[in-house]
Parts: sequence; C-alpha cells; structure tokens
Amino acid sequence: MRVYLVNPSHLSFGVAVITPRWLFVLAAATPSQWGDPIICDETLELFDANVLMPGDVVGIGIHTGNALRGYELGRLARQRGASVVFGGIHATLYPDEAHELGEAHAVVKGDGDAVWGRVIADCVAGTPERLYDAGRIPGEAFASARWDLLPPDKYMWASVQTVRGCPKHCSFCSVWRTDGQSPRQRGVDAVVSEIVELRRRGFRFIALADDNFYPVSLGDLAQAKRRQDPSRLRQLEAIRAQRFELMERLADLPDDMVFFTQITMEAAEDTRFLEAMRRARIKGALVGIESVTPEGLKDVYKGFNLAGEALVSRLRTFGEHGVYVLGSFIFGLPSDRPETFDATAALATRAGVTFAQFVMLTPFPGTVDFERWERDEAQQGVSIAGVPITRHWLIPQEHRPKVYSPHPVMSADEIRARTQEVWDQFYSLGAIWSRARVVRTWKSRLAFVLISKLYRQMYANTGIATDSARTSRSARMARLIAKPCRRLFAAAPMPELQVPS
Ligand code: SF4
Repeated sequence: MRVYLVNPSHLSFGVAVITPRWLFVLAAATPSQWGDPIICDETLELFDANVLMPGDVVGIGIHTGNALRGYELGRLARQRGASVVFGGIHATLYPDEAHELGEAHAVVKGDGDAVWGRVIADCVAGTPERLYDAGRIPGEAFASARWDLLPPDKYMWASVQTVRGCPKHCSFCSVWRTDGQSPRQRGVDAVVSEIVELRRRGFRFIALADDNFYPVSLGDLAQAKRRQDPSRLRQLEAIRAQRFELMERLADLPDDMVFFTQITMEAAEDTRFLEAMRRARIKGALVGIESVTPEGLKDVYKGFNLAGEALVSRLRTFGEHGVYVLGSFIFGLPSDRPETFDATAALATRAGVTFAQFVMLTPFPGTVDFERWERDEAQQGVSIAGVPITRHWLIPQEHRPKVYSPHPVMSADEIRARTQEVWDQFYSLGAIWSRARVVRTWKSRLAFVLISKLYRQMYANTGIATDSARTSRSARMARLIAKPCRRLFAAAPMPELQVPS
C-alpha cells in the first residue's frame, strides 16, 4: 500500500515558482508505518493514475480553480481500486460535490495536519468515514513540512507558513471565513528551524505563505485602548510581539536569504514594523490594493485601504523601507469605468509597484460576493455546456467565461480586453527594464526581467486568453522561461548551517 498526495492542475510548466506547501505538510503528517508518501504536483507534470494499485490511498487537495481536474483524478484513482480522499478549501466548502463528482471515499474539512494519520488508517482498514471535520487547529499544532521529499531542481521559492487567518472581511475573499478571523501563529522556533532546513538544501528565497503577515494593525491597538478592553489589548500586543520576535530571528539567518509575504496596506503606517521587515530581509510583499478609487474599495468592503494620491504615497512607503510591492488589482467592479483601467496602470507605475497582477472579479465560493451573485444568478437559470453558471468551476476550461457578473456599463468582452491591455502595458519590455533598476547587479536585473516575463506568461496569458491555442502557446513559453529562471534563484547548499540561538 502506498500513500499518494496529488496537487491537481490542468496546466503543467515543468518548473514552478512556489512549492505547494500542503503536499509536504501532509507528507510530514503521514505516519511512518505507511512509508514515504509519493508526491505529485501537476503544475510540474501530470499525474499518471496507471501507477496506482488497489488499496493505495490518494489524497487530493483542491481549491475552486483546480476542483474540476481534481475530480477527474479522483474518478481515475477510484477506478484503479485506490481509496480517494479530498481536502482543501473547495472540498471544505462542498464536501458532497467531492463525493458525487470526484467519487471520494472520504472528505476532510478544515486543517488536515492532525487528522490525516487517522484518515489513512481508516482507509486501510476499509472503514473510511464520509466526512472528517478537522476544524481549525491552533498554531502550535501546525505540522512542519517534509522538505526531504522535494524533487530536486523544480521550484524557485520554498514556502513556509507562519500564521493562518485574517481579521479583515473583504467581500471577494474566503480566507477570513475558512481560516477564521483570529490569527493563529505558529511557534517562532518551528518556523526558523524549517527555514534553516531549506537554506541547507539550497533555497535562499522563501515565501512566507501567510494569509496576512500583519494581523494586528496600529488601528486595532488604538481601538482596543479606546474601548478600554485590557484583555483584548494584551492579546493583540502578544500577537504583535511574536511577529517582531520572528522577524528578529529571521534577521540572524544568512545574509543572502530573501523573504516574500502577503500583507495589508495598513502596515505602511507602521514604520517600526517596516523596519523590522527590512532587517529580516522580507524584501517583497503582495499587497491587496484591489481598486484605486474610493467607490471600488467600497464595492469590496476594503475601507481600510486608501485611494488616489494617498494610495501612491502609502505604497511608496513600502519601497522606502526596502519592501518591494506586488500589487494586486481587481477589474470589473461595479464602479469601474473604461477610464479606470488606464488610471490603475498609471497609478501602479507612479506608486513604484514592482510587480502587479490584474485579476477580473470572479465570485469564488465561500465569499460574500458569491452568496449575493449566486442568489441573483439562480433566478436567471443560466447554464453553460450543461452546467449551471452558479457552479462555474465545473464548466470545462475551454467554455468557461472570463467575467461572471453583469457590469452596469461594460460588456464582459470589454472588461477582458481592457484587462489584457493593462497586463501588456505593465509587462512591456521597456516598462520591466525601467522597474528592474530596483536591483543593482546585471545578474539580478536579468533575473528580474525573466521572472516578470514568466509571471505574465503563467498568470496573465493562461488566465485571460479566450482561445485554447493562445493558452497552450503561453504555457509552452512559460515552460521555456521557467528553467533558466529557476537557476537564477538557486543557491549553493549550506549543509552545516545551524539554527541561530
Ligand atoms: S483579501 Fe487579504 S485582507 Fe482581505 S480578508 Fe482576504 S486575506 Fe484578509
């Protein structure tokens, strides 16, 4: 009997940017009596279900974007006589769907770290439960990853999680509902030990794969003081103190290490925090900017963000403290107008945003937006390729629309075409080269250009293109660029490196 862990994807690039952490965490949570699990990340290569034997256990982790491919794999695995277990955000939200369409024997809802051993034992005994409600485990119980199972030369960045959950409540995001609004922080020692192990193996670029690296803002502290709520204040201060402790420990790691994380814009008003990030060499952060207008921010319940020139200055503050911003923008919001696209591209440049992604508003399950949209659409009864549009992730890729919500003034095609134009503008060679000045050496600049082009091929062209020929051309191009890119990120292993005390 073998345990397989599969990360589904309908597109493979041979090399990937970031390690899908859950694969290596569940590998660590697999009891040793079942041997080392076999890991398959389909963003590298497609999984060959013919290797499965009756009695094997196959864990498939799905989010909404890869659920359809995941279900296909579940059916193939079951045909081969394996026990099929689904987990991940989408299976947590739609456990019955994983049974119906993915032919699951069992579904795990919530954090799989602690329950996975029991699930395997039940499958082997032939008594899997239909549903394991694993809930949210505390930060101290988060499992470390089995990095010894990483395939060599396949990933540019490794990923380590330091906190789960986010106290905000953005309307397009499901994190605060699935991972909860109370931040669950992992112990600093556990995080640092894992990072040291990765550096020993030759990874110097590490993504801190957190929902929100800045879970307590200055505004939260001020509010607790105003409300004269000492226990809340102590709790928030303790969370914040642990963030600083983590960053101090990161600062003691080898100087060639670089970290990247995900953070809310409020961190820019907290210069003590930004300075700690600088010392820790957290040099990049994905910041959810979403919209450059106050109306757009209202559309997505993101009143804590700024708009217009205040936004430019806040984003620049990150750069002034050595943190490069990957700005994330959403197009297709009800308040967007044709001129919003150019204004967004111009603002991104003016604010010194180093990388950017421009996504089209999509109602994802588990979000406030989805509930509203699903209610409205259910009355219309629209189907595509025989699938109700309210289950859009089940529509075959080639028929999937790019825009789901009717817009008050723009057609779906116009939103798609204008979004593509903004990607083209932001990632033109001239624009990339001028942004590449943020790094000093020629080698770093070359890496910057390559990674910018790769990012665009992987995320823009494959996600927005309307025809499958263009999508596969982009995937081929991404495969070509990915290999040399990876080499630029690799470092000499440091097998003797010790965990700093
Ligand atoms: S979008 Fe970011 S800030 Fe908003 S709820 Fe999700 S994780 Fe939190």
